[in-house]
Amino acid sequence: MKITFLGSGTSQGVPIIACECEVCASVDPKDKRLRSSVMVEHNGKIIVVDTGPDFRQQMLTADVKWLDALLFTHAHRDHLSGLDDIRGFNFKMKRAVDVYCEKRVESAIRREFFYAFEEPKYPGVPEMNIHHIGLDAFELFDLKIEPIRVFHHKLPVLGFRFQKFVYITDANLIEPKEMEKIKGCEVLVLNTLRREFHISHFTLDEAIELVKIINPKQAYFTHISHQLGRHEEVENELPPNMHLAYDGLVVNL
Ligand SMILES: [Zn+2]
Ligand SMILES: [Zn+2]
Repeated sequence: MKITFLGSGTSQGVPIIACECEVCASVDPKDKRLRSSVMVEHNGKIIVVDTGPDFRQQMLTADVKWLDALLFTHAHRDHLSGLDDIRGFNFKMKRAVDVYCEKRVESAIRREFFYAFEEPKYPGVPEMNIHHIGLDAFELFDLKIEPIRVFHHKLPVLGFRFQKFVYITDANLIEPKEMEKIKGCEVLVLNTLRREFHISHFTLDEAIELVKIINPKQAYFTHISHQLGRHEEVENELPPNMHLAYDGLVVNL
């Protein structure tokens, strides 16, 4: 399995207009973050988690020519608003894109991309087949995928386990029952917004504590705000099995 971080930032993580902080002004490419998304390649198939506003740029940068499945964690715009750009894949693949999400995410998709579902069909609208998922494991291309319920303040959000790989973004609470699904993973991705408290995201200290409990071989932090600090400086203070993700990072498992 090949995991590519297409983006590792949040809307306060991309260089911010008129912000002169050391992260936004940094020339280190690892400080240039697009909105968080990850691509999982397995058995020659391509699965992408979330389509934020940078989706189109992420597909171009990673040279993705085909999309076998899209998974959604939740419907906040930094994870959804790029969905219109699947049109390029519809055109190339000559078919709809398979989308896997919870019902509440489907409602948001139907609301925000209403024109894609109107009859008679307008030519060129994004085409997708929506498949509902809940908390039960399902299989795509011989890959078992286990949804994990996590909370983003009070909003129920999904994380995903793909065999030994767990991807969790936009959480600040994981209940004990769902922690069981994460145990035994080798690569764990967790969101880490910044050092200071935030109402809906893990802080750096909270994420480090959680990684210590799960104890994976490697952990990567994502959904990073410019408030966390420069990549190189934060990376240097982390324990050996913990890292800051960055755009374009590839992990093989
Ligand atoms: Zn969110
Ligand atoms: Zn987010």
